[in-house]
Amino acid sequence: MASLAVRGLAKRFGDAVALHPTDLDIADGEFLVVVGPSGCGKSTLLRLLAGLEEPSEGRVLIAGADVTERTPAERGIAMVFQSYALYPHLSVAENIGFPLRMARRPRREIAARVAEVAALLDLSALLDRRPRALSGGQRQRVSIGRAIVRDPAVLLLDEPLSNLDAALRVKLRHEFARLHQRLGATMVYVTHDQMEAMTLANRIVVMRDGRVEQVGEPIALYDRPATLRVAEAIGAPAMNLLPVRIATVDGHGTTVALPEGGDLRVAARVPPAEVGGTATLGIRPEHFRPDPGGPFAGAVELFERLGPQSFAHLGRPDGSPLVAQLPADRHVTLGQVIRFSATPEQAHLFGPNGAAYPRLSP
Ligand code: ATP
Repeated sequence: MASLAVRGLAKRFGDAVALHPTDLDIADGEFLVVVGPSGCGKSTLLRLLAGLEEPSEGRVLIAGADVTERTPAERGIAMVFQSYALYPHLSVAENIGFPLRMARRPRREIAARVAEVAALLDLSALLDRRPRALSGGQRQRVSIGRAIVRDPAVLLLDEPLSNLDAALRVKLRHEFARLHQRLGATMVYVTHDQMEAMTLANRIVVMRDGRVEQVGEPIALYDRPATLRVAEAIGAPAMNLLPVRIATVDGHGTTVALPEGGDLRVAARVPPAEVGGTATLGIRPEHFRPDPGGPFAGAVELFERLGPQSFAHLGRPDGSPLVAQLPADRHVTLGQVIRFSATPEQAHLFGPNGAAYPRLSP
């Protein structure tokens, strides 16, 4: 087990910046999940941590020791990739034991350790099979086994479940949570999947354009996104974003004018000098409340019933569509106009530079 830190870590490919200078501290035993749109630098960060990529600037520290010049093998880090990269001609046992064989560990020790890891990952009955005789989920478990067989201090995972079907992803997600508890290893996990990020992470790192936008506990990022980009990255379906005008500000909050007319109170502190300016209002689908007198209105264009939840996609006169969560038993018809309101505390307000205005407590 080990803490992990990067200081001023940056990576350029020619003129293109994959990672701007970045500082990050990951605690011993922490499960850190990295999210962000395609090309934002997630894999680059992971590869720099692993030592698979040489940084343009900055340092990588493991347990306080500078490992920037060390090879991947010398860092005590293991990595699991999206593609399993198993050796097809080796059995499951030989694949898992491969790193120990390379390290020239005694045969008895290898056999004992492989048996232990196989038991942990529910692979004991499959040890003699070749990878082609395994399902996708079983193959990924073998590649995880191979990664943890040497007891790495740090385990890095780059979209390990993205090649699997939905049901298997959920099952392996639960296994990752258990594995983390049992191993106690520091884990850094890259994913596109909201549910994986929200359920597995101790903290989430949101990246965008080669920069860290915000780091925090999942619920903190969900409740208090510091920027528009974080608001867009966390939560599914995504937060609704609407262009608004700052109408008035006072000691209790801010009133914004909505695009189609009507006002909404927001518990945010906006500098009085910005009255009359534009901003972006954010409301999560689950925070719209059906209300015949509410300031938001839209005609139902699509209605999705997902069992316990339903989502209405609403077209609006100004062209900005809204998604609102409705009670599962609510009956709606296509084209029906529904009005909504939202509480000041559940409305988010972002300035023209994309930063959230400070919140006011109720
Ligand atoms: P995805 O989610 O699609 O895997 P990512 O967030 O992991 O994306 P990276 O793979 O880290 O993104 O890439 C970040 C940026 O660096 C991208 O613009 C990518 O094109 C660029 N990049 C990555 N590797 C190289 C390379 N070897 N040579 C040149 N550019 C690269």
